[in-house]
Amino acid sequence: MNRRDGFAGWVRNLWDGVFSTMVGMGITIRYFFTKPVTVQFPEEKMEVAPRYRGIHYLEQDLCIACRVCEKACPIDCIEIRFKRHPGGVNEWFEFSLDYNKCMFCELCCIPCPKSCIHEGREYSMVRYDRSELVLDLLTWKGMREVDLRTIKEAEEEKKRKAAEAAARRAAEKAKKEAAAKEGDPGKPRKKETPGKRDPEGGGDER
Ligand code: SF4
Ligand code: SF4
Repeated sequence: MNRRDGFAGWVRNLWDGVFSTMVGMGITIRYFFTKPVTVQFPEEKMEVAPRYRGIHYLEQDLCIACRVCEKACPIDCIEIRFKRHPGGVNEWFEFSLDYNKCMFCELCCIPCPKSCIHEGREYSMVRYDRSELVLDLLTWKGMREVDLRTIKEAEEEKKRKAAEAAARRAAEKAKKEAAAKEGDPGKPRKKETPGKRDPEGGGDER
């Protein structure tokens, strides 16, 4: 380290201080007039790439509860609970995803036969407790008015088909009974022509 003594050293030190301050202020002034790059999260959010794999969302009205996504997940973070009703209506209890485990691999979305589970572009998931990282993707739980109507229609259709089938069976049974009566041995036979000799019995003609 060079030692600066005397007046020349004092001037040199003064110049270094002034020069470094000017360099620093020059950088500050340059950035003062350029567009800031800082994003004021969470008020502002950064735009992500179109293929970004973020928090999932479910198009529940399209979902058929086939469980393919649940089975495809390599670390079992999806849990689906529902009850199937007539008319293909699902009564929903749970469609949850555990973000403590999820690695955003998208393997659950790719095989979905209805393409109704997606990884969105939302990435903010700040929580105070890890238990809050289990998110339910359902838009509604239980059943809607339209579901109840569909069930009612399906049950009426089922009853109608059952009644038709019963009527068909009854008609077939009646037909069989009629056919059996025609072949009944108690029925009067055709009269034999008189005067003909019975070839085996050998009776006399009279
Ligand atoms: S694979 Fe698709 S249709 Fe099947 S349960 Fe998952 S989200 Fe629903
Ligand atoms: S993104 Fe991957 S880890 Fe996350 S739920 Fe889907 S399959 Fe499982």
